Amino acid sequence: MADRLRVDVAVLGSGPGGSVTAALCAEAGFQTLLLEEGPDLPLDACRHFSGEEIVRKYRNRGLSLAFGKPSISYMEGCCVGGGSEVNRGLYHRTPAYVLDRWAREYQVDALTPDALAPHFDACEARARVAGLPGRAPPLSQRLGDGGAALGWDSMQAPRLFDYASGRKQSMSETFIPQFRRAGGEVMAGTRALRIARANRRWRVSAVRDGRALEIEADGLFVACGAVQTPALLRRSGIRHNVGNSLRFHPMLKAVALFSDAVNRPGDPDPVHQIKAFEPRFGIGCSISSPALLALALAGNPAMRAHIAQASDRMGLYYVQNGSGHARVRCLPGVRDPIVSVAHESNELEALYDGLRHLLSALFAAGAEAVQPCLPGLPMLRSAAEIDALPASLPRKSASLSSVHVFASCPMGGNQRITATDSWGRVHGGDGLRIADASLMCGPTIANPQGSVMAIAHRNALHAIERRFA
Ligand SMILES: Cc1cc2nc3c(=O)[nH]c(=O)nc-3n(C[C@H](O)[C@H](O)[C@H](O)COP(=O)(O)OP(=O)(O)OC[C@H]3O[C@@H](n4cnc5c(N)ncnc54)[C@H](O)[C@@H]3O)c2cc1C
Repeated sequence: MADRLRVDVAVLGSGPGGSVTAALCAEAGFQTLLLEEGPDLPLDACRHFSGEEIVRKYRNRGLSLAFGKPSISYMEGCCVGGGSEVNRGLYHRTPAYVLDRWAREYQVDALTPDALAPHFDACEARARVAGLPGRAPPLSQRLGDGGAALGWDSMQAPRLFDYASGRKQSMSETFIPQFRRAGGEVMAGTRALRIARANRRWRVSAVRDGRALEIEADGLFVACGAVQTPALLRRSGIRHNVGNSLRFHPMLKAVALFSDAVNRPGDPDPVHQIKAFEPRFGIGCSISSPALLALALAGNPAMRAHIAQASDRMGLYYVQNGSGHARVRCLPGVRDPIVSVAHESNELEALYDGLRHLLSALFAAGAEAVQPCLPGLPMLRSAAEIDALPASLPRKSASLSSVHVFASCPMGGNQRITATDSWGRVHGGDGLRIADASLMCGPTIANPQGSVMAIAHRNALHAIERRFA
């Protein structure tokens, strides 16, 4: 016999989309349950970017793969707060040209920068967004300097971060406490398996500590993230434009070796980004701990050999764009969905061109040597050697990675290509709603969490006004 629960509203998944949605529903007076597959751990339960964090707070210990040529390895959070607990909280509002494209092609109603501004404002009021006070760390500044030397605009990205207290503004620090204060209940360690409509209510079949659990709710939001949301819907027989259009921001990386210390323990996280080439590609800085340098340089022994002696002189940087169009599918009896990705040549070549730009910027910043993190490519000693690299991306050996997944169930009035209406209501879904990164209509190139939160805020208010109909 399954345990049974009855609530007004159930929100499945507690990442930024689910947490914002759940907090608004609870504050509006609805008895709301926030269900989360992963554990409920405080922000500082483990050191940020440590191996322990990857084991305890990531899905599949950080190892998920979209199969393709090249494949994309991607990461997702799996804990209360989802990706917001493990990410750096780099923050942007959705660029206006991106919203304009979504409104035109996907026919999303009321998605102009002005219409979305109150939702950004509300989210930013609750989860503080701030620029780094004082000077950026050298590793970060070098990217800005290199870009400036080549005439390319850069900026210091704000973060969801309270610099006064030194605490990241993840969901477990912001919207989830707010949700609990409003009477909401978080149920961690509980995986939703299927959803179904019965007797004018939604029924969620879940499992907790090996025990079956049935939850009945008047309103239901699925916010399991851009891979797990389409997987859950497809397992539940809901398939119209679900899981056909997953997108990533795949990255190529490079490591620069400078003559002086740029990467000192205790430095703040790097924040410089070169925006001059977006949307073709964007460039930024990564966390450059010895462990992450070693991971990035797995196929490049010459540069890897420097880590033991000179990791304080090394910095890890990335270029990313929107290459790759992926599908999410479920196989009977297999727990994880299968994700397959196909690339368009022009998008991959734009990414590779971005890598050349990144290498140029690092030499312009004074790097002694730069290593593109692609197996078999040499360590370069000068900008002149960039021209000797292969003319196109070596697809067979290239390894792409991504921490941004989205757009698997896009929203909008154009039913030919969307899974939900402009407000996240699944087409023909009897009031079923999606409330996470799945709803985005395509890449933003900018970091996406701000977009996920503002869209969830907008759609939750819309749902509450209509009492989830
Ligand atoms: C390492 C890393 C760094 C990043 N850096 C940045 C950054 O600096 N800035 C930025 O803007 N974005 C960043 N991102 C991306 C950002 O975190 C995501 O865009 C955001 O978290 C997406 O929110 P979401 O609500 O769609 O899903 P998620 O955050 O993925 O949350 C979904 C939640 O649902 C849960 N879930 C899944 N399936 C089920 C199920 N069946 N039952 C119950 N629960 C389920 C998951 O465990 C998860 O906790 C980063 C992501 C990662 C992984």
